Amino acid sequence: MSSKINGSILRLLPSVDEVLRDGRISEMLEIHPRSVVLEAVRTVVDAERQDILAAGAAARQELLKEEYLDRIIENTTAEVQHLVRPKLRRVINATGVVLHTNLGRALLSERARDAVNTVAANYSNLELDLETGRRGSRYAALEHLLTSLTGAEEALVVNNNAAAVLLTLSTIARGREVIVSRGQLVEIGGSFRIPEVMAQSGARLVEVGATNKTHPDDYRKAVNEETAMLLHVHTSNYRIIGFTRETTVNELVEIGREHKLPVMSDLGSGFLLDLCRFGLPQEPTVQEVLCAGPDVVTFSGDKLLGGPQAGIIVGRRAYIEKMKKNPLTRAIRIDKMTVAALEATLREYQDEEKAIKEIPTLRMLTVSSEVLESRARALAELLESVIDDNRALFTVEKGISAVGGGAMPAAELLTFVVSVSPANMRPGELQAALRHGQPAVMSRVQDDRLIMDLRTINDEEFQLLAIALSSVLK
Ligand SMILES: *Cc1c(COP(=O)(O)O)cnc(C)c1O
Repeated sequence: MSSKINGSILRLLPSVDEVLRDGRISEMLEIHPRSVVLEAVRTVVDAERQDILAAGAAARQELLKEEYLDRIIENTTAEVQHLVRPKLRRVINATGVVLHTNLGRALLSERARDAVNTVAANYSNLELDLETGRRGSRYAALEHLLTSLTGAEEALVVNNNAAAVLLTLSTIARGREVIVSRGQLVEIGGSFRIPEVMAQSGARLVEVGATNKTHPDDYRKAVNEETAMLLHVHTSNYRIIGFTRETTVNELVEIGREHKLPVMSDLGSGFLLDLCRFGLPQEPTVQEVLCAGPDVVTFSGDKLLGGPQAGIIVGRRAYIEKMKKNPLTRAIRIDKMTVAALEATLREYQDEEKAIKEIPTLRMLTVSSEVLESRARALAELLESVIDDNRALFTVEKGISAVGGGAMPAAELLTFVVSVSPANMRPGELQAALRHGQPAVMSRVQDDRLIMDLRTINDEEFQLLAIALSSVLK
């Protein structure tokens, strides 16, 4: 019975060809690619058919054929809009998490953005030595900057730090053993896990010590003729507190010397500047770690360094030369835009005071609370001038921002936020509406208010926030 009704309704559904012959679709075809419009029509007609079938006997309210067509055209317009909108798009980060992996981690400095633009639009000497006219190395520009900034003998840059760890293990320890403390078997961002990267590299993991305590003698006891390397991993995104004892890079270097074994330090979010004087936690810089004498140090380009996604490897020439010859290096090499952005970012570090001002990550981490407070007041004032108090109330409050990106997990940065108390909707509802807006706004909900942290919002975004809030607040 119901299938009969469905069948008769289905006959009223216009075919894809009928829809395509409609004048309104022709107009769409003048603006949008045919393949996109066709995909949209197919999706909408198919969804309509599925709806009728799913509704079963309930699908009695038969529409006229014209009404079906109107509805399909309307839905097609929306579907085309959805399909032509870029999937990767700008987001306003009001979360206060400076290095938000889901939001693209570090923002590039102006100089780095310009450099990317130049090599993207023009030919470049990426692998050409302009002096000799012969083939050059794509890493040449970076090697010199990295060795002079860090004091390392040699440097190499690959796609990301996960790749840097993989390459180092594969080059130095393939088929042999690498000793790591149990307290350092980190997982970063769900997909980077030391044991798994180790397996992928062909090296064998030898765990020593306990989760909370590992002593130098634990390593000494594990050394045998199969041992290829001692690995120290920075516990970037967690802290073990209480009764703990971790072996330091210095201690590993000492054991390495006793047994003539190389030592590697995976620093995670390596950085070149000490930000202690800005109230950030004491963390050793890449230069300081290198002073302890490890053979290889790896770190990310887009964490605290504030550059593009990259994995930076610095250390002894003999090991890095060997890595360059590893076929894996070709598979995980960086592209010219990364070279451009990283070179420009590293050049910022040649003048430390300028680096703090010009590199967005450093600027956001070191901005004073007075500046944050006055910017929060300016934003709240703007919002009040645009949005009635019967829709929402805005207050300036103290808050806490996070470094993010698996760096300095214990750091609590004092900040100022604008908190929004919506009058006619729940904060969670407002948060979702802002996320769906254009541009999308990512915020936090806390104690029944929506929180926007000024640390990660720039002044040019104030107007956009006002428009976004005004369009979604009921
Ligand atoms: C972040 C991190 C990685 C992974 O770095 P990516 O650049 O994200 O690939 C590896 N090891 C440690 C200790 C990290 O903190």
